[in-house]
Amino acid sequence: MKKWAPLLILCAAWACSSDGGDSEPSAAPGDKYSTPLGDVLVSPLGHGSVMLSWNGKTIQIDPFSQVADYTQLPPADLLLITHEHYDHLDPAAWKATVTPDTQIIASAKAAEQMGPFTVQTLNNGNSASWNGLTIQAVPAYNLWHKRPDGGFFHPKGEGNGYILHFGDFRLYIGGDTENIEEMASWAGTDVAFLPKNLPYTMTDEMFVDAAKRLQPKNLYPYHYEQADKEALQQAVGDKIKIR
Ligand code: ZN
Ligand code: ZN
Repeated sequence: MKKWAPLLILCAAWACSSDGGDSEPSAAPGDKYSTPLGDVLVSPLGHGSVMLSWNGKTIQIDPFSQVADYTQLPPADLLLITHEHYDHLDPAAWKATVTPDTQIIASAKAAEQMGPFTVQTLNNGNSASWNGLTIQAVPAYNLWHKRPDGGFFHPKGEGNGYILHFGDFRLYIGGDTENIEEMASWAGTDVAFLPKNLPYTMTDEMFVDAAKRLQPKNLYPYHYEQADKEALQQAVGDKIKIR
């Protein structure tokens, strides 16, 4: 995976914003959504990393130094970590994005590795609030895919997905998960990120099943090495827009 050159980031920010590029330039390209709490610019950075720009604040989710140079991006006002695996909890990346003022929220196992920083731990089912935004931790786990020793890559109850509630606009970050039945209980999210990549997360068939449970308006496959977005779009139907 290639790091972004700063020049590319700036050029793309001018050209790629989905509202036609008339917004202020930000530090990464993305899609802009209107929410009751103000516009949010959603910037997938690659693999499991997502950056959100909202009301002048930056939210970094699972920053990973193999996909971006975080010294070239705005520092995080809020940092969310789904779980402790190296591609989600990458010290080189998260230490480059935090400041003394960053609010850090992480799973318990990830938080154990983030000392001496102050981390708010959320377990599945817990919520936190930050600047009017509600952050809900939801389950993220494997149903099928296991390590050679028989344990799941992602045992139930350890890692988090996050649903960010911008008022009634909901943005779901799947984390490393499979097509778990709980997804139906947060169906209809406005934006969803679902992982694809074997052996750790989902096959195409599982991804499509997850999408049908979730029924998001906008669906970003992420965490993949290969994705045929046209085929996925056909498989999920036209009520879900694959991004
Ligand atoms: Zn993982
Ligand atoms: Zn992962």
